[in-house]
Amino acid sequence: MTEVRDYSNLIGGELRPAADGRTLDSVNPATGEVWATIPRSGAADAAAAVEAARAAFPKWSGMPAAGRAHYLRKVAEVFAKNAKELAELETIDNGRLITETAKRDLPGMTYLWTNAAAECAAAVEGRSVDFGPGSQGLTRREPYGVVLGIIPWNSPISTLSAKAAFALAAGNTVIIKPAEQATVSSLRVGELLREVLPPGVLNIVSGLGEEVADPMVRSRGVNKVSLTGSVGTAQIITRASAESLKPLALELGGKSPNIVFADADLDRAAPGVTTQAIFTANAGQICYGGSRILIQRPVYDEMIYRMKEIAAGVRLGDTLSPDTTMGPIVSAEQYERVTSYLEIGAKEGAELVFGGRFGAELVDEAHAGGYWVEPTLFATSDNSLRVCQEEIFGPVAVVLPFDTEEEAVALANDSVYGLAAGVWTRDLGTAQRMFRRLDTGTVWVNTYRKVMFPLEGTKDSGYGNDSVLAYTREKAGLFEF
Ligand code: NAD
Repeated sequence: MTEVRDYSNLIGGELRPAADGRTLDSVNPATGEVWATIPRSGAADAAAAVEAARAAFPKWSGMPAAGRAHYLRKVAEVFAKNAKELAELETIDNGRLITETAKRDLPGMTYLWTNAAAECAAAVEGRSVDFGPGSQGLTRREPYGVVLGIIPWNSPISTLSAKAAFALAAGNTVIIKPAEQATVSSLRVGELLREVLPPGVLNIVSGLGEEVADPMVRSRGVNKVSLTGSVGTAQIITRASAESLKPLALELGGKSPNIVFADADLDRAAPGVTTQAIFTANAGQICYGGSRILIQRPVYDEMIYRMKEIAAGVRLGDTLSPDTTMGPIVSAEQYERVTSYLEIGAKEGAELVFGGRFGAELVDEAHAGGYWVEPTLFATSDNSLRVCQEEIFGPVAVVLPFDTEEEAVALANDSVYGLAAGVWTRDLGTAQRMFRRLDTGTVWVNTYRKVMFPLEGTKDSGYGNDSVLAYTREKAGLFEF
């Protein structure tokens, strides 16, 4: 049993417990053990965070862009210096493999914060329009004020950074509300950044969404809310923010199609579809997971054979070991949800291609208390099934055959979601047509899950993104002399 450590909120440059002293337990999903406690903050903490962020806003937004860039470069250094510790904390906190957090996430954070520092200048660039002698139009980019970032549990440090870095670069002050299932790494980031950023510029407040985020969503002291989370939460936030007509950015879920054409290089497509897009990457708990696999009939059997082989080699267990290739489901609640889809798929008549087992039998004794589901694939030709339409958010995917490009487009777009899509083909014409015709925010061709631009969805996958311009608005002025 590991020692249980207590973590605190960061509000106005101070590390504070919840005002009423309440806490929540944080569970290591690989073992089921409580390993930390976090503040269960409420309305008083929400009010304190808003007040601190408001108080810090005039100085932070009034600073020259180069001044803000200087601070953000110092933040990048903190991430570089503490990468190992933060990667381990994130892995223990949410079950994301150390190979993901140490090799992909944390190095990415140094790049992201450095990039945000470089973007500070772009955030203050306006336009000039000449209306003739003595009449000139100008625009000026301004920060919103206080930005509230509400983040999910599946990749906390990356999501916190994407919101905070660009909102801060644009001159806003920020409050982050991490997800209650995986908060520790965010609170540790707060401890580290307290030494670097001026008080109140970045605040991190943990607890349940309805208890601490809701009052901030309603507060007139908060000027923009950016949520990465589920559609249900987005609907609640949209209603809660209506009173103050707050601008929102909603980065939500997906049921992304990953489409393999018969001419694809199967040596790339099979691992790309199987490991990167769904199963091993965060055990399928990624918003843009390509969990709806469409395969053109001539290569259908060959792809299934290859996917089966890859899934058979997946190793579950110690998330801190580089030999483990798939982690656990994040929480008991999410485990119930994911495993319920195994039953739903079977009841709906989908064929179980492989997988379907879950629980302690998949791992050694030390991990028997964790939340384990093996890579599972259902097959069907009916895209209306729940396993084809609903986001499962676990290592459970579905495969559908198709004959023509037309059919692939129709199947791919037959979804309430529109976050991302993958296309595997050797034909540039096919790739370009699919890029135009897929109703999703991102299309990856012969690759998947490489994020170059801010993610932005269509349909129920939401709207808005985390970029420096998205955290500014443009004020217009007309000058006549
Ligand atoms: P969730 O919607 O349950 O929770 C997200 C956050 O919202 C948490 O911090 C939670 O505490 C907060 N919240 C809950 N109720 C609230 C309320 N009433 N008011 C204010 N805040 C509230 O989502 P989750 O289960 O943590 O994450 C999984 C979801 O996130 C999936 O749907 C996934 O697709 C999505 N996601 C999207 C992206 C993206 O970039 N598009 C990235 C990662 C995850």
